[in-house]
Amino acid sequence: MKNLQKLLHAASFAARKHSDQRRKGSNAEPYINHPLEVANLLADIGGIDDVDILSAAILHDTIEDTECTPSDITDKFGSRVAGLVLEVTDDKSLPKAERKRVQVEHSPHLSPDAKLIKLADKISNVRDVTNSPPAGWSLERRTEYIDWAEEVVAGLRGSNKPLEQEFDEVILLARKKL
Ligand code: NDP
Ligand code: ZN
Repeated sequence: MKNLQKLLHAASFAARKHSDQRRKGSNAEPYINHPLEVANLLADIGGIDDVDILSAAILHDTIEDTECTPSDITDKFGSRVAGLVLEVTDDKSLPKAERKRVQVEHSPHLSPDAKLIKLADKISNVRDVTNSPPAGWSLERRTEYIDWAEEVVAGLRGSNKPLEQEFDEVILLARKKL
C-alpha cells in the first residue's frame, strides 16, 4: 500500500471502529477527534513523517476501546503498525489502578517509536482534562490525572524534544487553569 493510501485507510478504519463512541468530556466530541489529534501532534510538532508511526497513532485506541483485534491490524496495516498499537494498549483484564501503575512502570521500556505515540497521547489527554474534563471529575481527580501523566511522561523523555516541550507547556497551562 502506498503511504498516503495507508494513512487514509487507517483514518477511515479508526473512524468506523470508533463511530459510536464519544470522548468523556463535557462537549462529548466524537472519539475519532482524539486519535487524529495524536497523529497531528506527531506530524506538526514532533516532525514525524514515518507513515507506520502516524498510522499507529490514528489506530492507537482501536484494540483497547473497540472490538478490533491485533490480527485485524496486522492483516490491514502490517506487523510493525500492529506492534506499535499493542505497545500502547493497556491490559484491560487488570484493575484500573493497576493499569495506571503499569503504564508508569512500562513507559521507559517502550520502543522509541511507541514512546512518541504515548507522549502525543498524553499531550492530547492532558489538554482534554484541562479544556473538557470528563463529567463529574473533581479538582482532586483532574489534578491526580495530571500528576500521573507527568509520571508516565518522565519515562518517555529523551525521545522527541519538541513534543516534550509541548507536554511541559500543556502541563503548565493545566496547572494554571485547574
Ligand atoms: P481514566 O483516568 O482512565 O480516564 C481517563 C482516560 O479516558 C484518558 O486517559 C483517555 O484515554 C480517556 N478520555 C476520554 N475522554 C477524555 C477526556 N475528555 N479527558 C481526558 N481523558 C479522556 O478514568 P477512569 O474512569 O477509567 O478511572 C480510573 C482511575 O481513576 C482509577 O485508577 C482511580 O485510581 C482513579 N479515580 C480517582 C478518583 C478521585 O476522585 N480521585 C475517583 C475514581 C477513580 P484514551 O487516551 O484511551 O482516550
Ligand atoms: Zn488515546
